[in-house]
Amino acid sequence: MSRAVIPIAMQLAALAAALALPAFVGANSYALFVATQLGIYIIAAIGLNLLAGYAGQVSLGHAAFVAIGAYSVALLTVDHHWPFWAAAVVGMVLAAGLGVLAALPAFRLSTWYFAFITLAFALVFEKMIVEWRWLTKGFAGVVSVPPPSAFGYEFGPRPLYYTIVAVTVVAFILVRNVVHSRFGRAFVAVRDVEPAALAVGASPQRTKLVAFVISAALAGVAGAFFAVQKTVVTPDDFTADFSIFFLLTVVLGGLGTLWGPIIGALVFFLIPELLAGLQSWRMLIYGGMLLGLMLFAPHGLYGALRQAWRRMAPANPGANAAASEAREHPPIAGLALDITGLRKQFGGVQALDAVDLSVPAGSCCAIVGPNGSGKTTLLNLASGYYVPDAGSVKIGDVEALGSGAQKIAARGVGRTFQTPRLIADLTALDNVMLGAYTRERAGLLATALRLPSARAETRRLRQEALGFLQFVGVADRADVEAGEIPHGQQRLIEIARAMMGGARLILLDEPAAGLSMSELERLERLIMRICGLGATIVIVEHHLDLVANVASHVTVLDRGVVLAAGKPSAVFNDERVMRAYMGDRALKAGVPA
Ligand code: ADP
Ligand code: MG
Repeated sequence: MSRAVIPIAMQLAALAAALALPAFVGANSYALFVATQLGIYIIAAIGLNLLAGYAGQVSLGHAAFVAIGAYSVALLTVDHHWPFWAAAVVGMVLAAGLGVLAALPAFRLSTWYFAFITLAFALVFEKMIVEWRWLTKGFAGVVSVPPPSAFGYEFGPRPLYYTIVAVTVVAFILVRNVVHSRFGRAFVAVRDVEPAALAVGASPQRTKLVAFVISAALAGVAGAFFAVQKTVVTPDDFTADFSIFFLLTVVLGGLGTLWGPIIGALVFFLIPELLAGLQSWRMLIYGGMLLGLMLFAPHGLYGALRQAWRRMAPANPGANAAASEAREHPPIAGLALDITGLRKQFGGVQALDAVDLSVPAGSCCAIVGPNGSGKTTLLNLASGYYVPDAGSVKIGDVEALGSGAQKIAARGVGRTFQTPRLIADLTALDNVMLGAYTRERAGLLATALRLPSARAETRRLRQEALGFLQFVGVADRADVEAGEIPHGQQRLIEIARAMMGGARLILLDEPAAGLSMSELERLERLIMRICGLGATIVIVEHHLDLVANVASHVTVLDRGVVLAAGKPSAVFNDERVMRAYMGDRALKAGVPA
């Protein structure tokens, strides 16, 4: 993903301004009150951005998670005289826990279901706080929430403000660390290209769940401070408007960017406050701003800022790509692939009909055949993307049927796609690092806190990923976003991603499509090198020269059945094959052997 472009000096200046504010305004001033509230909103917005912006799961009910934090603190401190800090932790855990219970079933379904379930949760929750009068005091709300205290010292508005600045900074740093880790890469992969997430062994459900837990927990924290700042907590504070306000803040600030929620909250919370004098025009001005942003800054305010920035200081792609040295890759213990009696039907189309394919460990086998003959379907079945109607797929000695794409990937099966499936928003290097998803050991906590173990792992994997980019010959693109890289090179980066995952069986779907002559030669050498290391390769390809040079065995598919199989020289000279696959013209012209 693109790194933040706000220079460190500017970040520090913003922090200094935030810390200096209380020196210029009175402790009981409206300005300090608003600034404190802004901090609370930013904490919640940072969490919502992680969920909606990075993981692509829109929560329409985030107010409910803020409410859980707020009511936990209000009820525990007022009714049970708990200290604020303990109550805040309970609020945070409850928000995350209840949220997960409500949303878990939705993660298996589409993004829309998740959005509706969170909306329904928020609406039901809002009703519950009104109806459960014995607990929540209904519409009257919980009043006189005491301020936090520490060591017998009660927090007035200024210490509370400083506390919130500190919590905001900590939340920002923790989320930034997560975003720049394997978790962040998986979020974006699940959001943009789910098949690619599966190909590197990342579970979409678990990935979304991680994002949701963090975001609900941050909403709970924001709610806890909300209660002590306002000192009164009522159901009116947490209506659907509030959820929508959060979402708008994040979307308009810049969805899926680290600074988006901060800029969004700053602008969209402060402006209505400042416009209080123009009360009757307020909604019109606000609405006009929203409309203007949607038209002219589709990537939010932060996106617009970033573009302006880039125009002033053009990026220098590939600046640090030369850092790594070409290293010898250790041998790979290839996995055998044994397919028997495989059948797959789509509606009326028999895509595969009793197909057998046996690829010994460490060999390179090709599958050729006209378009629509079932080659991609075969790869999709072998890698668990489809479930066959009948037959068996053995990887190594293990039956792989029914395991699912993510588990098969984790077992050492790497693949590329006929249309490259890189994550456009991630750099080439991040795309390759995504490949290491199942190999990375650092947990969420170690990652968020950037513990030395997590940092060492990231550094090591970064070097390794650079090494693979060099191995496939596109190291100079390391820092370029994948969406801006030509297709031919994207295919090579996909191969690097598969190798990064430690793949021992690599399935390549038309890797030479769209490659230039020189890239084609490079691909040929690359495949031979990977095979030379010991990996097993199955290549689907139309370039028969390439096939003849790299493959020791060819299987010809035609309309879902195996037409011929054997050594390339024998198969390509088989008359039936030439007629079915290449047409009569090829018969006369001769084919490479
Ligand atoms: P190839 O890769 O050899 O060009 P495919 O495996 O993509 O062929 O397709 C084989 C047949 O199966 C085609 O008729 C195609 O339309 C059909 N097919 C493949 N995938 C699907 C799918 N997901 N849904 C419906 N039909 C499909
Ligand atoms: Mg295909």
